[in-house]
Amino acid sequence: MTSQIPALTQPDTPRTDSVFSILSGFYSLDSGVPGLSQVILDKLNMKDYGEYRAAVEGKAEGISFRNYKEMFKKMEETFEFCTSCNRLPARLAEGQTLKRCVKCLNVYYCTKECQRKDWPLHKKVCKMLRLVAIDRLVEWLMFTGDLPLPTAKWSKPAAEVKNWDDWLGMQEDLAPRLDAASSGANMATLWKNVGRPRPADSDLQASLWRIQSEFLSRVLAVGTALRHFGLDPRAKPLTVHIAGASHNETMGARPTDYDELNNMFPGHQGIEVVLVGPEVADGPVTRPPLRSFGPRQRVYVSAHKGLYHHFWEDVVEKEEAAKPDLVVGFHPGFHANQGLLEGWLPTLLLLRDYDIPSFFTVFSEAELEASLHILQELEMHVRDSGTNPFSAQKPEQRHSSPNKAPVYCNSHYVRFQGSLPRAD
Ligand SMILES: [Zn+2]
Ligand SMILES: [Zn+2]
Repeated sequence: MTSQIPALTQPDTPRTDSVFSILSGFYSLDSGVPGLSQVILDKLNMKDYGEYRAAVEGKAEGISFRNYKEMFKKMEETFEFCTSCNRLPARLAEGQTLKRCVKCLNVYYCTKECQRKDWPLHKKVCKMLRLVAIDRLVEWLMFTGDLPLPTAKWSKPAAEVKNWDDWLGMQEDLAPRLDAASSGANMATLWKNVGRPRPADSDLQASLWRIQSEFLSRVLAVGTALRHFGLDPRAKPLTVHIAGASHNETMGARPTDYDELNNMFPGHQGIEVVLVGPEVADGPVTRPPLRSFGPRQRVYVSAHKGLYHHFWEDVVEKEEAAKPDLVVGFHPGFHANQGLLEGWLPTLLLLRDYDIPSFFTVFSEAELEASLHILQELEMHVRDSGTNPFSAQKPEQRHSSPNKAPVYCNSHYVRFQGSLPRAD
């Protein structure tokens, strides 16, 4: 049985020189809870990080579990450590077991003492972590095909759809679809196998929506960026490169993933989306980019594995791929450590020197500040930045520090193009 791999959250305090964000993720887990990354590998029956990378890139057979019960159990076990003293199960005393917080069913403690000591911190996030614990199970429905739910044609022009409320106002079928997904066969299978009570249908529907919003937040970021740069796909066909596409965005990616752009720009001339990154997972979108314009009123998605500046030299400059009208990056993380910055630097300079409209999203305001600082040092011409109205609605728990305030995918953005104008 092949199945999903627990996604690792972004690094909090990474310490690595790797250009691969997966490895930074692992190292940052260990800096929070020493030994946690090894626990994850053990649960997945993997011997090292290389094997993990091969699996998330789709090279290995996939990770096999005997049954759903085992799969969900092993996934949950990667969250089992004492939130107060960071102790892992292997370091508990004889006969001692970790106890789960009964309110959120998300965090664990080795003793009552540890739980009591942690409560002043944990109480601020306990309610939210309850939702997160539901989401990380319901997310499995992305792999069964129940999610993402189909969406409706837009009844308003894109300029009038400014936030999620506007978008939801056009989606009359969403409620019945959420209802159907929450009462579907896969949802039933899920709760039969996870070893915890099934939440109320309203909780499940809210969770399905949060996960759907994360998926859509990427597509809408692309559409928003096109609009902000005044690029109109109804006037001419457009090519969008997603630089630094990760395993999170490409594992299980389908050729229809960017179809919401058809609803956003009805009657467009053809939009091509190329996902490029060293962690691109093999799948149905792993195919060559277009060399000439794609079909009108269709979005064509392809993926290329490699660093963006290598893709540029090896493919774009040889005219085997169209030059981009826009480059988008989701959570590039180049602010996080030297290794990631070094991987990104040639790409950032290339975007600047070729004057390419660029739009990057980040997880939080702090990350935005740090990213802006780097872009300013590179004398990039930052056009604007701020909160993204189509931020994902699903809170992201910091895997090794669950009491930290959650972050949200694509919560903030920065838009830049070219070099700063010279002051003379
Ligand atoms: Zn403890
Ligand atoms: Zn709790």
